This record gives sequence, C-alpha cells and structure tokens, in this order.
Amino acid sequence: MFKKVLIANRGEIALRIIRACREMGIQSVAVHSTADANSMAVRLADESVCIGPPQSKDSYLNIPSILTAAAVTGADAIHPGYGFLSENAQFARMIEEHGFTFIGPSAEHIEKMGDKVTAKKTVMELGLPVVPGSPGAVESVEDGLKICNDAGYPVIIKAASGGGGKGMQVVRSDEEFAEAFTTARREAAANFGDDTVYIEKYLEKPRHIEIQIFGDKHGNAIHLGERDCSIQRRHQKLVEEAPSPALSDNERAEIGKLAADVIREMGYVGAGTIEFLYEDSKFYFMEMNTRIQVEHPVTEMITGVDLIAEQIRIAAGEKLSLNKENIKLRGHAIEVRINAEDPDTFVPSPGKIKQFHAPGGLGVRFDSAIYTGYSIPPYYDSMIGKLIVHGRTRDEAIKRLRRAIVETVVDGVKTTLPLHQWIIDEEAFLTGDYNIHWLEKKLAEKNS
Ligand code: ADP
Repeated sequence: MFKKVLIANRGEIALRIIRACREMGIQSVAVHSTADANSMAVRLADESVCIGPPQSKDSYLNIPSILTAAAVTGADAIHPGYGFLSENAQFARMIEEHGFTFIGPSAEHIEKMGDKVTAKKTVMELGLPVVPGSPGAVESVEDGLKICNDAGYPVIIKAASGGGGKGMQVVRSDEEFAEAFTTARREAAANFGDDTVYIEKYLEKPRHIEIQIFGDKHGNAIHLGERDCSIQRRHQKLVEEAPSPALSDNERAEIGKLAADVIREMGYVGAGTIEFLYEDSKFYFMEMNTRIQVEHPVTEMITGVDLIAEQIRIAAGEKLSLNKENIKLRGHAIEVRINAEDPDTFVPSPGKIKQFHAPGGLGVRFDSAIYTGYSIPPYYDSMIGKLIVHGRTRDEAIKRLRRAIVETVVDGVKTTLPLHQWIIDEEAFLTGDYNIHWLEKKLAEKNS
C-alpha cells in the first residue's frame, strides 16, 4: 500500500481524499495555489506545497509543478479528484513515467473515453445501446444535414472533447442547422482545443441515469447501482439521488450488468461512471467519465462503501473488495450541490463567510471545505459544498433533506440553498416524475 498520496485538487474533494487517506493510515500532501493558502485541505493534510498563483492554468493545471511537489515530498501516488487534470491522459502518463502511481485508469482508457466519438463507437461495439445520430465526427454542413434528416429533428450538436455541459447546440430545423454547426465548432475549438463535433438525436423527456463501476488489475469488474442526476440547469447537475425513482429492480440489474461487462471487456481499472439517457424504458449511452464524480456520496450512502478508499486500494494493485454478494443497496440517498451563487440569477457570489453552521443528525452528511471566516476565492468553480441525506425510504430522505437545509447556515455570501428548498417541495420532485428538462422549464415559468 502507498505511504503517501498527493492530492492534485482543491475544495471539498481534496478534503474527501485526505479523509480516506487518514483512515487508511496513508500520509497526505495537499498542493495549493496562493489563493488557497488558508484552505481546509492545507490545514488538514499532513503536508502542503504551494504550486503557483491563483489561475488554475498556473497551479492546479500546472503538471510540472505538481510532479515537482510529488518528488519533493516523496509521494508514491497522485489522486486527481474530479475536474482539473482528472481526465487528462497526458497527466496520467507523465505521472507513471516519473515513477509515481496515478490513482485512476490507464492513459489509454482516459484517451479512448475522453474522445466521445471514439467512446461511443467503442461501447457500441461492446454491446451498449447509444443515442442515435452520426456514426462519427461530422465534417461539413452537407453531411450534417443528411444525418439530421435521417435521425429526425430535434438534434443536438456536441463537442467530441466536450465536458461540464458546455458547447452543446440544440437544432430544430434545417434552417437553423448551418449556423448552429458553425457556432458549435467554433465553441468547441475555443473551449476544448478541438473543433470535432458529432450529432445526436435530442431526446425530449429523458432522465440522466449513470452507473457507478469499478474494475481492478486482476480482471474483476462490478457495478454499484445507479444515480439519477436529472435535476439539471444548463446541462449541469444540481441534485442527485440513488436509487432512481424511475427504475425497476430488473432494469437496474440489467443495465448494471451490461455496464460491468463492458468495462471488464475493456480491462478498465479504477472507478468510472457510465452515463445514459433513459426514456420510455430504454437506455442510451452518452459518455463515460474515467474518474470519481462529484455525486459519488449518494452511492456511498446506499452501499456503505468508501469509493475513494476503493480507488486507492485498486491503484495499489489490490483486488476489488466488492462483489455481488457483499454489495447491498440500502434505503435512499439524495445530494444537493451548494453553490456560492445567487439562487435566482446564478451569478457567482464569492467572498467571506461570516458564519457557518453545518447540519447534522441521523443520516445527514455535509461534504465541504468551508469554515467560519473562510474567504471563497473568485477563481474556481462556485460549488462550496454538498449536503447528502440518507433515509430508509425516499420519503424519509426528502423529509430529512428538508430539515437539514433549514439547519444549514452560510452567512456572508449567497448560496443556492433556497433554490434547493424550493425544488424539493415541487410536486414533480416529490413524486419522482421529472426529467432533464424539468428544472429549466420550471425556472422559466418562475421568472416569467
Ligand atoms: P458533458 O460531458 O458536457 O457533461 P454529456 O454528454 O454528459 O456532456 O451531456 C450532459 C447533459 O446534456 C446530459 O445530462 C443531458 O442533460 C444533456 N444531453 C446530452 N445529450 C443529449 C441528447 N442526445 N438529448 C437530450 N439531452 C442531452
């Protein structure tokens, strides 16, 4: 097992990884930008190293600085968390070349799944259903129009290297296509340095359902059930729950088995998530994330498994500690992402937290790196914490969430907590009858 793990990340996920390391008896190294010198991760890690100025490109994305920090502190392995360099194949490769272990899959698997066109082809050949659309990259308006007419409108143009819900264009007619295609390519080039785009049929009322999977270096693979992440704004998840209120036990078992079979076939190692759209009882593969996800705690709450510890054990070469017999899905878990944003306009609200009080009690978990007196820097993602609840039933979890939100105090900055309070009392949420477009529609109604 590793003696020392360096965490190439910040915020709540850095803390989450430090916690797993401490429980496993592993030393932790936090790297940080100058803007994060007073962060909770720096305080709680065994060691810390400043790796650059505030801008991510100079610090959290600065591969030479991070590798130097690993060498100087004598770390054995590097955990990338989510975002930043977590899906950067070059980073994974360089880590291994410098004699450290990357806590994640091989660079080849990151590369393959990171290009969504290749990913779709790969999993399709391995037997997963995909969203109908272009068989590969679309090069011209002419080709695009043909594909749109075969698939039928509406369609969505997506960037092959896209992520974070960015760079997608919905098109509803031939007339709109040419302009949307040009915009999509330009945005893809600007955001991801790659102007490759592809086309999918745009589904009108799907749910976003994703399967948590794990593979080890000994050829074992397993799934840990699904998460329903259909409450979204601008293609970004705000609320996640497990199990999905929409799936039957049979559907869960079937799609879970398919997902596990695919990653076993690929020889995939580590944690991953296979994302699907689900409509009219059918699943359509969308993409695979080759890292731990923000919403992993809902799976932890219903399985009792520490997913970060499992990632570390697998990277160290141990066999999966999980199998079909010892994974039991118990009760229901819901997570809300708390962003430092205006709950109506979604404008970021960085600044000093004057007063902070975390909720508690049975079945309540609060994953965050904030504290009273902490200043939220303006340079990074606005998510400042995640409130996760667990109950024996969905109804119990909702009631628990409602009271936990009321208990939470974050003074000094605006947060999205009032938005969550509103969402979870909506009829569609209470009945579980919602899809990925529901929140946008509701917000539009609310603001009109
Ligand atoms: P990203 O990597 O940017 O997160 P995804 O491919 O995972 O991109 O898509 C993000 C979100 O965009 C999905 O959860 C869904 O809300 C929406 N989306 C993507 N593809 C489609 C589609 N074919 N039809 C309808 N919505 C889609």
